[in-house]
Amino acid sequence: MDGLNKFIYEIGSDSAFSILARSNELIKQGKEVINLGIGQPDFPTASNIVESAVKALRDGNHGYSSSNGILELREAVANDFFNRNNVEIDPSDILITPGGKAVIFYTLLMFGQPGVEIITPDPGFIAYRSMIDYMGAKAIALPHRMENNFSFDAEELLSLVNNKTRLIILNSPANPTGGVVPYEQLKRLAEGLKKFPNVFILSDEIYSRILFDGHKHSSLLTFSEVKDRVIVLDGWSKTYSMTGWRLGYGIFPKSIFKYAEKLAINCHSCISIATQLAGIEALNGSQDSVNKMIKEFQKRRDFLVAELNNINNVSCVTPGGAFYVFPKINKKNQKSKDISNFLLEKKFVATVPGSSFGVNGEGFLRISYASKLENLKSFVNFLDEFMNE
Ligand code: PLP
Repeated sequence: MDGLNKFIYEIGSDSAFSILARSNELIKQGKEVINLGIGQPDFPTASNIVESAVKALRDGNHGYSSSNGILELREAVANDFFNRNNVEIDPSDILITPGGKAVIFYTLLMFGQPGVEIITPDPGFIAYRSMIDYMGAKAIALPHRMENNFSFDAEELLSLVNNKTRLIILNSPANPTGGVVPYEQLKRLAEGLKKFPNVFILSDEIYSRILFDGHKHSSLLTFSEVKDRVIVLDGWSKTYSMTGWRLGYGIFPKSIFKYAEKLAINCHSCISIATQLAGIEALNGSQDSVNKMIKEFQKRRDFLVAELNNINNVSCVTPGGAFYVFPKINKKNQKSKDISNFLLEKKFVATVPGSSFGVNGEGFLRISYASKLENLKSFVNFLDEFMNE
């Protein structure tokens, strides 16, 4: 159809959702589908969190609330951020959003426009690229290579920055690879960016609690060189198994907070108070279920990495965080899309082709191990069969 904003034709989509839709169709046809495609924890939201929302609704919290989020929740976020990163955040710099994705959307509405370059991870979360393209900006791919444990090289990143660069998007631990960017790279990046004071950074830290093997998270906000131009994205979806609740936040530099808030007012108005009260309970209540979930993820990751590396022509590095593995799969030069398609249509296992995360993802599959060990065992057997066919 003609006549729409010309950039709407550029907008991409998230294959994980189309793969989910196809999996549901197959399930309706009576097939038993193992879904390793979607990025959501397979644990229920903890009951204390659910109960706090139920109570909030029973107590009559049914109306609109402040557009930036209720103060008690922003204070709880600031407190949690301090405990984890030792950085003090002014609650008035925090915008509570309907999921972390809204922070990506609002940030790119602020920074994206024709003539502007935005550096984005490749392979990387699909929403970044979609929104850069929609805004008519130019996406500059920052390769995250397997031989580098899916981190980036700060010198390489800095070599991509020029006077058209307005924003750099970073994501650690990362979707789709589980890669963790080491502190030294972030430090070198922060130092190098002193020369480019107009470049902002969107640091997507949504998986920052899900780390293994003693990896420690370093928020980009800990670096004084760039502190006043970092936007942090985080939320409850992954850490607290609250994907469907739609609760996230952005910490914005004071210089741009008011624009982010205006976008929020014009778009989502505010977040349900019951959801926000549940968010407070999640942060301030017991963390036992989070710790249990991370332990279980680590068990599954260890199983998958070992098993995948035993399969012919499959190699998999050990990711430091999140709940994805990103194995390289070499089957007679078949495209990752064809392999993923075959696994879904013939073996009834949903995965996401690496190519949907950028050109550097070709040859890989994203496997979400937010699924019980038994399913992961079946997947490994199917993949082994497929690779030997
Ligand atoms: N950022 C990354 C890297 C993600 O993988 C996701 C979800 O898959 C999000 C942000 C958005 O999460 P949500 O909007 O559910 O908070």
